[in-house]
Amino acid sequence: MTTTHFDTITYETDGPVAVVTLNRPGQANAQSMQMIDELDAAFDLAAADAEVRVVVLAAEGKHFSSGHDLKELVGPEASAELQAERATAEGKFRHERRMYFDRCVRIYEFPKPTIAAVQGKCIAGGLMLAAMCDLIVAADDAVFQNPVARMSGMGVELLVEPWELGIRKAKEFLLTGDSIDAQEAWRLGMVNRVVPRAALLDEAKAMAAKVALVPPVTAERIKDSINQTFELMGKRNSWNYHFMAHHFTHNTATALGKLAEREQMGSMREVFEARDKGDT
Ligand code: ZN
Repeated sequence: MTTTHFDTITYETDGPVAVVTLNRPGQANAQSMQMIDELDAAFDLAAADAEVRVVVLAAEGKHFSSGHDLKELVGPEASAELQAERATAEGKFRHERRMYFDRCVRIYEFPKPTIAAVQGKCIAGGLMLAAMCDLIVAADDAVFQNPVARMSGMGVELLVEPWELGIRKAKEFLLTGDSIDAQEAWRLGMVNRVVPRAALLDEAKAMAAKVALVPPVTAERIKDSINQTFELMGKRNSWNYHFMAHHFTHNTATALGKLAEREQMGSMREVFEARDKGDT
């Protein structure tokens, strides 16, 4: 067993199974730019290691991931460099293509099978990340939500919901911002199984060990062939379309106005609570 420590994740291999663990539990595993870079580097390690046959994507602490770390993008703690890049529509597009869209698609297209082990909150960009994996094992306390429409955004950068939930449920999920618990996610086919919270990592590793028995060339072809089925249904084209539309809604007067209000009110939560009460 070997462990590689990054700052925001850990990478561990045990025989044919690699476990990548999001490790910012104090921030509910909000995905910072550093975390996204380190995740990419961990997948490089898994790709380069011929011993590794399956990758488990897990998370330390109470929650899988609260989504992208918005504190880096807006507000007093925001990085000057990122704010400069995101100051224009073109810059925002470039930044999200590079850091969110391409990085997630890379995990989706990773040749070796991947399994997400999800507990607690799995929100917006967290759900997008988990949905890139081939299989999902959920703890009984897992909760899925993508409430960004409530904040004027059009989902996150990749639209996973219709593929995960079916069309009608996807519309309800995004338009209401309501959450789905582990049992409902299982019923809808979004997760493969629901297990007790304490058993989550062991169950995900056991599933990985079983998948690892399939000859890698076969496992990779099964994954690729199933993904190809979705290509024939237009998955990548729909993602490309959604990404463009997502950026349209990023730059509307409504969205930019809400960001400006945020500067005055302190947090997005306050802006949208006021809106939902009918104050603005
Ligand atoms: Zn975005």
